[in-house]
Amino acid sequence: MKAAPTGAGVFPKLNKEKTREVFARAYELGLKAAPEGRVADYIPELAKADPNAFGIYMLNGEGESLAFGDVGTRFSIQSVCKVIILAIALKFKGFEETFKHVMMEPSGDSFNSILKLDLRSNLPFNPMINAGAIQTVSMLANDFEFEEIMQFARELCMDPNIVLDEAVYKSEAETGDRNRAIVYLLKSKGVLMADPEKTVDLYFKLCSLSVNARSLAALGLVISNGGVNPFSGENWIEPNHVRTLKSIMFTCGMYDFSGEFGVRVGVPSKSGVGGGIVCAARGPMGIGLYGPSLDPYGNSIAAVRAMEHISEELDLHVFDYL
Ligand code: GLU
Repeated sequence: MKAAPTGAGVFPKLNKEKTREVFARAYELGLKAAPEGRVADYIPELAKADPNAFGIYMLNGEGESLAFGDVGTRFSIQSVCKVIILAIALKFKGFEETFKHVMMEPSGDSFNSILKLDLRSNLPFNPMINAGAIQTVSMLANDFEFEEIMQFARELCMDPNIVLDEAVYKSEAETGDRNRAIVYLLKSKGVLMADPEKTVDLYFKLCSLSVNARSLAALGLVISNGGVNPFSGENWIEPNHVRTLKSIMFTCGMYDFSGEFGVRVGVPSKSGVGGGIVCAARGPMGIGLYGPSLDPYGNSIAAVRAMEHISEELDLHVFDYL
């Protein structure tokens, strides 16, 4: 690891040429790492992805972008939707109400674990694991139709072409028994806020939204820019909610690798088993990555490798200047 920059202060402006070189090298490193991982197959439709696919898209507040590899390929958003679900809950329910129904603690367990929920607590540990996201969806399920939430996702990702990937949705609905177990466990504990079937169906649909690396970069940019779309000026997420969102992404966003990712990369991020990762880096800068070959935790192996390089070379770790 290279030495961290010393001293607190203002983040220096990135040199354009160096930034391009760093992203180009990160793309190469990611491509090389891809064969070491495995494509998710517990949702059969996901197994069809090309394990060697990899793409990185960077978008900054001045509208400058960098693109390498498979940035146009559409894939299902999977757990990255948990960031959007939490942003919507914070916007429409507020901080206090949201965290009456879900906690904000890293679980240290795998994303679909039921253990702690059953043994240690009535509320899910955080909104980035399945139990917490399903619980958060139940807070919204009586107020919003799927189409309305999809519209929010289109706005946050600056991508009007986001649609429901019907094949992934069907595959997930057919095989998602563990998520059904979670929703009924939440119901049995008396904490679920909506009908269990309606809740889990909405959750499956939200995981099946089709995005690309560019959509995730735009989402990362809005989050990194304090919740404001820098191009339209629209303030979608309040600044104090953005702080909450980034904190939870930082501590819980990368499955049970969140601690190590926090140390090595140090950029608020969220990954999904479809191979997508959204990163909200400073600048403001959003980075969207796609690489369906996953590490044992469920994170894109190529994207994690690439982000290690990018963060280290461009001093993007949130604690570099603190
Ligand atoms: N739809 C997936 C599931 O619930 C999301 C998992 C993930 O991306 O972490 O199993």
